[in-house]
Amino acid sequence: MNCPEHLMLDAKWLMIWHHQSADIRREYVSWAEVLNPLRYEICIGQGPGRYWHINDDAVAWHLLRNAIWRVKTLCWLRGHDWRELNSFQKPTMICNRCMKTRPAEY
Ligand SMILES: [Zn+2]
Repeated sequence: MNCPEHLMLDAKWLMIWHHQSADIRREYVSWAEVLNPLRYEICIGQGPGRYWHINDDAVAWHLLRNAIWRVKTLCWLRGHDWRELNSFQKPTMICNRCMKTRPAEY
């Protein structure tokens, strides 16, 4: 994402980006997104190609959201809901709720 609307601060050695859930204008972004510190990316360095990225592409937020989603699917409690995955590769099973895959046992 290289949208200038997401650029919060552009100093000589520092850039701060805010990763939104959609490409919309800043005035329509919800406060839950603006106040979420895990959505901010900090780049420190001499210029393009030489930046050190802290929280690159808001990866911390995505890891947290994926972990929350894995817990909320309740596969850890109910067990996976396996079905066959139609694939031209090797036979594979996939969970209907969490999309986890495993090789089929036949
Ligand atoms: Zn599952």
